[in-house]
Amino acid sequence: MNGDERYRPAVPRPTLGRCPARTCHRLGAQLNGLCDAHYQLWRVSRFPPLEAFLTNATPRRGDLGGRVVMT
Ligand SMILES: [Zn+2]
Repeated sequence: MNGDERYRPAVPRPTLGRCPARTCHRLGAQLNGLCDAHYQLWRVSRFPPLEAFLTNATPRRGDLGGRVVMT
């Protein structure tokens, strides 16, 4: 949208960036930057120290590339 006399041009919303988990390529969804899948894993693990969690978190379904080929 280029905008007009009534509305300004559309601009992308700010992003939280990529999930900081070592094995993840998803977009962050939580205020601490984790994607929702890793946030849920962190939560059910009872919120261990985040630095160690980011290094040791296992990939979530669809991680490590996240591409799906549909034939
Ligand atoms: Zn993640």
